[in-house]
Amino acid sequence: MKKSRIGVLRLGYRLVRDDRITTHLGLVARAFGADIIYLYDCDKSVKESIDKVTKRWGGSFESLIVDRWRDVIREWKDKGSLIIHLTMYGLPLQDVIDTIKNFEKDLLIIVGAEKVQKEVYMLSDYNVAIGNQPHSEVAALALFLDRYFEGKELNREFEGAKLKIIPQLKGKKVIRL
Ligand code: SAM
Repeated sequence: MKKSRIGVLRLGYRLVRDDRITTHLGLVARAFGADIIYLYDCDKSVKESIDKVTKRWGGSFESLIVDRWRDVIREWKDKGSLIIHLTMYGLPLQDVIDTIKNFEKDLLIIVGAEKVQKEVYMLSDYNVAIGNQPHSEVAALALFLDRYFEGKELNREFEGAKLKIIPQLKGKKVIRL
């Protein structure tokens, strides 16, 4: 599987913080092959929950709380990465994913909460729609990463894990490493 570096930038402008969804976004980013998530306007308990999972289940996934999201985009742009914004208004995933893969560049994937500023659309190299219907940032990120990695991310081993699941037809089997 690859390895271009993949970052996820979670923007949020909600008056009520959506901590559970943001935690899920971090867990999906980690489980589906991203390297880091930047959490904007986010409570530190979200970061703690994500980091706790990484500590137990392995891998080198990072989470960072940021208060200047433009700086994150600038930093990735300056390094030559491709900036991808997931939005229902963008170009269909199935039409652009091969082009995005062929660049073989690092990717910063931006996802929103409620309303994303117009500036984000302009700063992005690709505005990508996972279907042109409104749904969820968690689903959008999972599908984007799965198409990007062609499903291979599901076989990944997470180094340094303390726990590992032995898949069962029925029941649960977890071993301590
Ligand atoms: N109408 C909102 C908008 O401005 O896009 C939908 C907000 S939705 C609750 C939160 C986030 O989920 C969006 O910012 C976007 O990143 C992601 N999202 C939702 N539907 C999507 C779709 N069909 N394709 C890609 N991303 C989507």
